Amino acid sequence: MNKKESNFSLIVRGYKLLFKVCPKFMKWQIISSIINTLIPFFPIYMSAMIINELSSSKSPERLLTLVLITVIGFLVLSIIRKIVNVQYSLHNNYAYHSLSYYMLDYQNKMKYTYLEDPDVEKLKVQIYNYQNATGAGINKLMYATSVLVTSIVNIITSFSLTLSLFITTSKESYSGILNFINKPYSFIIVLVMMILTITISMILSLKCQKKINNLYQEIERGNTMLMNVMSTYGYSSYINGMNEVITDLEVSVFERDSFIKEADKISIKYGISLKIIETLLTVLIMLYIAGKICTKSIMIGDYMLYVATITKLITGVSTLINLIGSLVYNNQFLKLLFDYYDLPDDRYLGTLPIEKRSDNEYEIEFKNVSFKYPKTDFWALKNVSFKFKIGERLAIVGMNGSGKTTLIKLLSRLYEPTEGVITLNGIDIKKYDYDEYQSIFSVVFQDFHIFAFSINDNVSCSLNGDRDKVIKCLEQAGFGEKLKELPNGIETIITKLYDNDGIELSMGEKQKLAIARALYKDAPFVVLDEPTASLDPISEQEVYNKFNEMVKDKTAIYISHRLSSCRFCDKIAVLHEGKLVQVGNHDELVKDEKSKYFELWNAQAQYYN
Ligand code: ADP
Repeated sequence: MNKKESNFSLIVRGYKLLFKVCPKFMKWQIISSIINTLIPFFPIYMSAMIINELSSSKSPERLLTLVLITVIGFLVLSIIRKIVNVQYSLHNNYAYHSLSYYMLDYQNKMKYTYLEDPDVEKLKVQIYNYQNATGAGINKLMYATSVLVTSIVNIITSFSLTLSLFITTSKESYSGILNFINKPYSFIIVLVMMILTITISMILSLKCQKKINNLYQEIERGNTMLMNVMSTYGYSSYINGMNEVITDLEVSVFERDSFIKEADKISIKYGISLKIIETLLTVLIMLYIAGKICTKSIMIGDYMLYVATITKLITGVSTLINLIGSLVYNNQFLKLLFDYYDLPDDRYLGTLPIEKRSDNEYEIEFKNVSFKYPKTDFWALKNVSFKFKIGERLAIVGMNGSGKTTLIKLLSRLYEPTEGVITLNGIDIKKYDYDEYQSIFSVVFQDFHIFAFSINDNVSCSLNGDRDKVIKCLEQAGFGEKLKELPNGIETIITKLYDNDGIELSMGEKQKLAIARALYKDAPFVVLDEPTASLDPISEQEVYNKFNEMVKDKTAIYISHRLSSCRFCDKIAVLHEGKLVQVGNHDELVKDEKSKYFELWNAQAQYYN
């Protein structure tokens, strides 16, 4: 693919996306640009007609008609402009958000692997950074539409109104420069000057943009760091005085202020040069038109018309060329967005429905499962094989980093095994319909999130949760007492940020909500992956025991690095450095004094003896 084609197709692709995501805004942007560009031509044209009339026959009827057309026409056009512009600004508010929602929606549906992929994260941060700092990328293209339409309409209209200037000549003969101006080919000199000016201004503006963007690239690392710091900003950083460090970092390392000052300096320098060149050309053209009046080939009113239209023609052409240059330059940022949207989705989605068995005889088996995270070359899991049946309580224990969470991620199909298979009733889990398969798991992960929505939305994971069921699950999860204290009940928002009646919850209360959420989903398999890691061992054990009572006959998988929490399970799988080193119940495992389980049990015994 040659470069020109790819630049063009990228811009076309960008516009296709814009028309898909915010069609109404794009439509009103085009209509309003056309109207706003055409309107100023009307008084210019009418004034030229009136002056021509004044300098020739001076007919009062004709003058009155011209003035009336000017006044009424201008009034009507102004009303139209107002209506169109209101529509434009109404949709303008939505357009920016529509693009963000589109990206968020894509992110929600993307393959899970990408959410943990640092390269994908970096790409996303780059897209946001460029959009926010320099308005580059899809936003640039979106707002460029108005400039594009304006310059095209300006060029077409002013060119048609100016054409007569070049072709009108006087029959009288002149000498010297007037003789040259009176020749039809004299406009070539004007044309050459215009092309020259446009080329110079195009080069200048490209240079200007390049400089600003180079400048931005220098502070990009700082911006990425800042975004990362902001997302991990919390009370601990506040108490430990990290806040000041962050502020200092923002001022000194990222040097945003100096970046803005430097960028301003560059644009002012290039902006002035561009204006000087354009003014020189305008003066030259004004002289040319004045020459045409001297040769009597045009009237005095036309002078006004031509000066205005030619100025608009020059600005139109130079704006268009600059815009094309800047859009081509913008393509490198637009490409980042499409690289993001083009991330291949090679998930094997499967088609088989999950068998609904009346005997509840489901069996999950890991057969020689090994797994490496993408872009890593160590085995997070190696040759893991084991079976468990529905209704069983399985515990997965092991030290931090031994592969417990990874095992659950494979089981719930967030990742696929690198080697080996996982089966449900003898069938590779890959073959089941992806959404249906995921619906049979309720997982409370270590990093469960409670969102700044209502309790109801957080528990039901929907905007129309079943209220009675939500309340029942909250009570089961031990949140009942707290709920009674809340005047707005389950409609209480979990933040004070945008609701004065909102609440902030303690870690333990949030855990209860996360557990209520798992109960609400009512899936046949429930997984508790150390959501209690911040609790002490005894409290953790209590949560596990209580959860065990709540899940009743469901299949439950408990994960913990604290062995005491899972002692009650039918089967305990011990992971160590990605390998399954022991399987059995507590009494069996603890007997082997050389085993990992025994070692861990003794090491942790101080907490629960
Ligand atoms: P555990 O749950 O037992 O604490 P994990 O399953 O989270 O352990 O991690 C197992 C290993 O895989 C660790 O070495 C960890 O650093 C690594 N790991 C976990 N998540 C990722 C990831 N997204 N990318 C690369 N490596 C990872």
